[in-house]
This record gives sequence, C-alpha cells and structure tokens, in this order.
Amino acid sequence: MTDVIALRSYAADQWLAAGGEQPLLAAIDGSVVAEMPAPSDPAALLDHARRVGGPALRAMTFQQRGKLLRGLADALTARKEELYALSALTGATRSDSAFDIEGGIGTFFVYASKAKALPDAHVMLEGAREVLSKGDFLGQHILAPLTGVAIHINAYNFPVWGMLEKLAPTLLAGMPAVIKPATDGAYLAEAAFRIMIDSGVLPPGAIQLLLGKTGDLLERLDGQDSVAFTGSAATANRLKAAPAIVRNTVRFAAEQDSLNASILGADARADSPEFDLFVKEVVREMTQKAGQKCTAIRRALVPAALIDQAQAAIAARLAKMTVGDPRDETTRLGALAGIRQRDDVIANLAALRVEADLVTGGAVPELAGALAKGAFFEATLLRCDAPLTAEAVHSVEAFGPVATIMPYGDADEAVAIANAGKGSLALSVFSHDLPTVLRLVAGTSPFHGRILVVDRDNAAASTGHGAAMPNLQHGGPGRAGGGAELGGTIGMMPYLQRSAIQGSEAVLEAVGRL
Ligand code: NAP
Repeated sequence: MTDVIALRSYAADQWLAAGGEQPLLAAIDGSVVAEMPAPSDPAALLDHARRVGGPALRAMTFQQRGKLLRGLADALTARKEELYALSALTGATRSDSAFDIEGGIGTFFVYASKAKALPDAHVMLEGAREVLSKGDFLGQHILAPLTGVAIHINAYNFPVWGMLEKLAPTLLAGMPAVIKPATDGAYLAEAAFRIMIDSGVLPPGAIQLLLGKTGDLLERLDGQDSVAFTGSAATANRLKAAPAIVRNTVRFAAEQDSLNASILGADARADSPEFDLFVKEVVREMTQKAGQKCTAIRRALVPAALIDQAQAAIAARLAKMTVGDPRDETTRLGALAGIRQRDDVIANLAALRVEADLVTGGAVPELAGALAKGAFFEATLLRCDAPLTAEAVHSVEAFGPVATIMPYGDADEAVAIANAGKGSLALSVFSHDLPTVLRLVAGTSPFHGRILVVDRDNAAASTGHGAAMPNLQHGGPGRAGGGAELGGTIGMMPYLQRSAIQGSEAVLEAVGRL
C-alpha cells in the first residue's frame, strides 16, 4: 500500500474535509494506511437525519425498504474485492475477511428477504387483536418507526459486519443512521460505507458517517433516538450514563464483553466424533479473526476424565496454525488489530495466568522483515484446574487468540462453570446424548443469548459457534450487555415504538393499513 488514504466523514449528503489528523497503521507491518479527518459537527448530522433522512425512509413501506437492502447488498457484492484488499491490512486472512465482509452482506440479503413477509404498509401489527369488553371495542399492538436518529457506535473487530448488522434492521424499520465506526480499521468501514453511497440506492439523509470523536453527540439525543453500541463494558457503562441518555430515556442497546463457553458433553470419549468436533471448534474459535470475535470460545469445559487428552489434542492442532502475513494462503492466524490491542491481550493474559497455567503460546512470534512490526500474537491455550473457585477466567476477556480449558465433574458443575461468566453471547454443547444436552440447555439458557448444539449427525451443517446468524438473536444478558440485535424483527425493535391501539373494529382495520 503506497498511497495513504485520506478518510472523510459524510454529513448531509456531502463528503467532508479529508484526512490530516491521526494516522492509522496497518496491523500487519505498522505502515501508515490512512489518516483520520478532523472531528465533524454532530449537530449538523442529527439535524439532517431528523429533517431529511427520517421522513424519506418513513414515506416508504417495510417492503420498499427491504428492496433498498437488496440494492445495497448487490452494490457491496460487486465491489467486495476492494474491501478484501483493505481487510488484509487489519490483520485478517482471506477467510477472516469473508466472515466480516460476506457475513455483513449476507445479513443485508437475509433482511431483504425477510422484508417480503412484512407489510407493504407503514406500520406493522404485532400479535392478535384482543377483545377488551362486550361490544365493538378491541385492542391491537402496532409498531411504527421512531422519528429520530439511530446512532451506531461500532467496535474495531468487524468494520464491515459490525456496521451492516446494525444497519439492516435500522433501515428496514425506517430510521436514518449516524454511524460512528471504531477508529482502528476505520478505513475499511469508510470503504464499505462509500460503496453504499456510490450505489445511489438510498434516499438522502438515510446514512451518515461520523469518524473520530463524537463531541456532544450523545448530549443532543432525545426519546425518539436510539443508540446501538458495540465495544467494551467500560465504554458502554460510561456512555449509557450520559446525562441526556438518562434524562430523555434514550434507548441504549449494548453488545459488550463476553466470556463465551463451549462444553464437551460427559457422554464423549476420546475417540467419539464429538471430541474431535469440539477440539476443532475450540481451535477455530481461537484462531479465526485472531480470536477477536465477541462470540469466540474463551472457556472450554471438558469432563475431568478427558481433560488431558483434550488439552493435548487442542495443543497439537494449534501447533499447525501458521502465524504470519494474512495475504499468504498458508497463514491460519493473522494479526491482531494493532499494537494497542496486543498490549491489552498481554496484560489480560497476565491476569489469567494467576489462576491458569500456560499450556502453549503466550508470546509474540518472531517474524521476519516488515511483519516484525505487525501486531501478531501466538495462539495461547491456558488450563485452569479449579474453575469453580476461579474469578479471572470467568471475567477477564483477553480479546485475542486465547482460551482456557477447564475440567468439570457432572452436568450441574458444567452449568455452574458456564454461568460463572455472568451472561454470554454464545454457548456451544458437543454431545450425542439428548438427556445430557437437555440438562445443559435447561441450566445455561438463562445466561446465554444463543446456544449451539452439535453432534456427529449435524456437524457438517452446523453454522459454527462464533457465527451470529441474521435470523437469530445476537446478544446476551448481564456481562454481554443485555442487547438483542439481529433475529429478524427482534433486531428491529430498538428502532420501532409499540403502541396499543384501542377502538372499534373499523378503526383497527384502518390503522393496520396505515
Ligand atoms: P471500545 O474501546 O469500548 O470502543 C467501542 C466503540 O466506542 C468505538 O467505536 C470507540 O471509538 C467508541 N467510543 C469510545 N469512547 C467513546 C466516547 N466517549 N463517545 C463515543 N464513542 C466512544 O471497544 P473496542 O476496544 O473497540 O472493542 C473491543 C471490545 O468490543 C471487546 O471487549 C469485545 O468483546 C467487544 N465486542 C463485543 C461485540 C458484541 O457484539 N457483543 C462485538 C464486537 C466486540 P474509538 O475507536 O474512536 O475510540
């Protein structure tokens, strides 16, 4: 990469002044990829979204807005190689990039397809009509888009998917969005955003891009606005306590840290297919996107009798995961997003090692040439033999290629250990015994937003532990932030207001056609 990309924010349907500020470095070799622009005026973006973008989107029906998503997905597909080229600089291998880029575009396709089953109208009915009294007086819930702005604050790990998975339900619901990507990797988010603008598919004001500092953006929000945040719990807690967010009851949905677990069922033996499937999945989750996935397996729970064999099998497989230039086809483990992120992983690893022993990895690999300046880190497996009394392994998220293997006694103990994460996005169970599966699902479901059950019969069709599916909820309780994104209409709820309409049958009939 020779030319430094001068990034621009996009406000009121115009690209603003370019670059000139903070340089953004390539994760793979520390070279300068792009420059951030000066901060922009949040008031102008909010005003344009409220006055222009919102009315234009709300003038369309749900089905019409679904067609916008289809058009955007086609435009992104046509130019996706531009995104792959930039994605490699964030440290991602081709298959990591596919997870981000194709995963994001796929989310648009799924939402576009779901829209065909939504009303060709401006409100959506929810549930059945309720008879409220004797005579012609009924009740019906309806859902209508909020009249404000959706603020999307995204994390650095999925510059494309993270933006599109929020945008699909927002646009389909009928709200304009102001997107604030994470600064690290903002050049990839800006490129995907630019393709959507270039496509000419969207009405004016539907999407705007706010790079860098957000100024007093949050202080300008009111009860018709909605914030969707993805990032660390510390930032989420700070932002959701902003005075205007509290004062004006602004909707604030957070997707944050998550100590996801995977459980190998007690029915498994070292030669069972489920043992092998579990080992492969743990390794895939540790190495895909260099472990920088909010859904990645951080805690691998194994029946005590199998812990040594599982540890050996995972370590042996990790040894084959070549670390290096993500553009090289033989590379299995790319770089972290930057040196800051690697320093965080190293610090969090030190906290984990107070309770867990190092099995393999734990260091910066020695790479030759320019890669020596990249943000690479070895895949690192830890082992904690006393998970029921441990704290750090259930609370410290080393956001990189790091996982801890731990033994459990019976199903109740496995449930207690999994739930000690105090709320996670994703749990997986590898078992071929239905009673075992049911005990684990019943015990863990209150603590986990999504549970994947894999066995020898469905493994080939499995979508994988770490993949958030557009058709299903993405979000978890407690530590995971309490949000619920995606999941078809579930993901649209932060952008729709539910109203209970009471009146005669004729009124309800007409309201349903609004
Ligand atoms: P972060 O530091 O909390 O930043 C997240 C976002 O918040 C970034 O866009 C950041 O912008 C922005 N931000 C920070 N301070 C702000 C402020 N005062 N006002 C407005 N925006 C502000 O998190 P991160 O380090 O980027 O992301 C890693 C974390 O995200 C991990 O803990 C991971 O588990 C979590 N994550 C969760 C999910 C999920 O779906 N649950 C998905 C991905 C990642 P700048 O970059 O410009 O500072």
